[in-house]
Amino acid sequence: MTAESTLRADIVEIGRRMYARGYTASNDGNISVRLGADRLLMTPKSVCKGFMTPDMMCITDLDGKKIQGDRDPSSEMLMHLEVYRQRPDAQAVVHAHPPTATGFAVAGIPLDRAVLAEVLTTLGSIPIAEYATPSTKELPEAVRKYIKAHDGMLLANHGALTVGGDLYAAYYKMETIEHFAHISLVARMLGRENLLPREEVDRLQGLRGTYGIKAPAPICADPDDAGLAAGDASCQVVQAPQGSGARLVADVLSRVAPNPSAETGGLAAPKPSAEAGEIRLTYRELSALIEEAIRSLR
Ligand SMILES: [Zn+2]
Repeated sequence: MTAESTLRADIVEIGRRMYARGYTASNDGNISVRLGADRLLMTPKSVCKGFMTPDMMCITDLDGKKIQGDRDPSSEMLMHLEVYRQRPDAQAVVHAHPPTATGFAVAGIPLDRAVLAEVLTTLGSIPIAEYATPSTKELPEAVRKYIKAHDGMLLANHGALTVGGDLYAAYYKMETIEHFAHISLVARMLGRENLLPREEVDRLQGLRGTYGIKAPAPICADPDDAGLAAGDASCQVVQAPQGSGARLVADVLSRVAPNPSAETGGLAAPKPSAEAGEIRLTYRELSALIEEAIRSLR
């Protein structure tokens, strides 16, 4: 077990990095870590994460009762307590509002497409927990659905949450989510994403063990397999096309509506504006299709 003084210093450092990178503004965000079997060390309420000092932290028990500290624990303490209850393996929890990932959370677009090998081996998919009023007991309830099977998730119209085997592992997952969101945004602005086919996703899942990555749940293709309708997710649903031996599968993005099968955080998917069967393409998408057709003719 890492010394308490080291954990306090680590929380200060991670808070400083999150604020410096724009993952939090003002007093947003919170960080906690297990301190022995039945204690948590947690950021206090109403402080800027960029300007904390080690003495500011609170110690609570696993029910949230304050044991030590001049300040009150984080306003999102209930969410942290729920994560520790559901995930005995989780040693640390980080919550922030990184702007690109939070943009996806606001748009109701989960980061669940098979795009980057690194993301698939570490986080798998990044779903969206349904909207809940911050700092109420709604939020832990929304998080509960996904937390057993995921180390990171978006919170609809709010931010992101990550867990890890130590403070830095949880923080790095937050970095990965924001980085992945940024890359996904750029690819979507460019008008297409090339996806990894299902066979490659299966191969990457097999490599998790080789890399020593302990994922909380396997990757699955079908949302029905995840048991979401029945309650908690039991696997990480990743959208990957069935490949025909190709290493990458071109996927021109639909401008009509987000993928209707995607989890939309409790929102009804927007109605397609086009008539059924009609496909609308931007000039860029049309050019890409024509270029591809010419290439295949050669
Ligand atoms: Zn928040």
